[in-house]
Amino acid sequence: MDNNVNLKVAVQKKGRLCDGSLTLLKECGIDVSNGTNQLRVQAANFPLEIFFLRDDDIPEYVQDAVADTGFVGENVVAEKNKEVISREKLGFGKCRLSLAAPKNGNIKSIADLNGKKIATSYPLVLSGFLKEKKINAAIQEISGSVEIAPRIGLADAICDLVSSGSTLFSNELTELETVLKSEAVLISNKNLSAEKQVLLDKLLFRIRAVKKARNNKYVLLNAPNEKLDAICNLLPGMKSPTILPLAEQGWSSVHSVISETDFWNIIEQLKANGAQGILIIPIEKMII
Ligand code: ATP
Ligand code: ZN
Repeated sequence: MDNNVNLKVAVQKKGRLCDGSLTLLKECGIDVSNGTNQLRVQAANFPLEIFFLRDDDIPEYVQDAVADTGFVGENVVAEKNKEVISREKLGFGKCRLSLAAPKNGNIKSIADLNGKKIATSYPLVLSGFLKEKKINAAIQEISGSVEIAPRIGLADAICDLVSSGSTLFSNELTELETVLKSEAVLISNKNLSAEKQVLLDKLLFRIRAVKKARNNKYVLLNAPNEKLDAICNLLPGMKSPTILPLAEQGWSSVHSVISETDFWNIIEQLKANGAQGILIIPIEKMII
């Protein structure tokens, strides 16, 4: 293998995806601490080079092989419609592209959008959605501050990114319907060389291990032996729980892994079944 091969990774220069992308790379053991103010940075301990770019440009640069891979929102991937492969959802940058209209106006549902004008930075995604829903509305493309469009008379409704909804709320808009759900995703070029594919697979392997670890917790607890069956049923673990006898007769220590999603529910049931001294420990990496 050519030792000079470097995976070129595009990351948003400034904005909401920047921290999440760099933190994920760091948790993958890739050290890019040597300055994020530059346009490109070489990782110290992995054959990888980061290019800091505007997020809107990332799909095109990846398509054209200026970068091999990139961190970008699914919303941008959908709108730019470039020839790239989405490799892995990354679990951060979550938001939705939604239709919204003035709170006290006459647009109460998406059917009321017929014959109206909608302002958006996502004309392609929106036109696909309107076609699918058989709604005939005009699209006014604007590149920013979409939320003020109804107030200045530019449009009757908007289609924009929402996460908490506070921007809609402060602009007296109500959400009508979600057009697209989005999170950050790792995209790659379609024709990577074999050497670059090997590097991308290594990176993906690490990303998956970090994601799994973030979604799971290690749990240790003490259980009376007669309750072990009930407790083990609550804890499927990676294979099955580890059970070690305690020095105290009739008691065991149980170790397992539980998912973040039903975490509190399981903890309550463990307690109800006689578990004591429950410890929950974060997992750094998880490979299964
Ligand atoms: P750039 O100057 O790089 O073009 P931008 O204004 O497009 O910046 P940001 O506002 O930083 O970019 O958003 C980048 C991405 O973050 C969005 O494309 C989306 O995937 C994601 N995101 C998550 N939550 C939100 C939100 N509430 N509003 C906007 N984007 C969000
Ligand atoms: Zn952008």
